[in-house]
Amino acid sequence: MLEEYEKKRDFEKTPEPPGGGSKKGSKKPIFVIQKHDASTLHYDFRLEVDGVLKSWAVPKEPPKKAGIKRLAILTEDHPLEYADFEGEIPEGEYGAGKVEIWDRGTFELRKYEEKEIIVTLEGKELQGDYVLIRTKYGNEGKGWLFFKKKTD
Ligand code: MN
Repeated sequence: MLEEYEKKRDFEKTPEPPGGGSKKGSKKPIFVIQKHDASTLHYDFRLEVDGVLKSWAVPKEPPKKAGIKRLAILTEDHPLEYADFEGEIPEGEYGAGKVEIWDRGTFELRKYEEKEIIVTLEGKELQGDYVLIRTKYGNEGKGWLFFKKKTD
């Protein structure tokens, strides 16, 4: 599942981790959101699922409150080690620019379906139930919406 991730990167040149070295933990799954100042600033939202980090690029700051929907573009799976990565991806490399951890924590998976994912995040910035819904249109089928669930 990491082929695309590895294909895009030259690990001799980028400080990003190559992956494949992590042990499967029995702990709660983790999530991380990395602020990525690449050609366009965005936030990479990553969830630990089946031994990899499922990843979405969110063009604007992830919402802390309900009522704000963000576009989230599905990107390639990343290795679990990536959750610790902060640093500068060099000019000319894939995703060149500064990466810093914006939020991280654990989560509980409430729902995991092809078109809908619901998680309860326990981070510093984001807490509570969050929803990812796959949209029908645009972005080559990789477009999702990301938002905080209203508490009813
Ligand atoms: Mn990114």
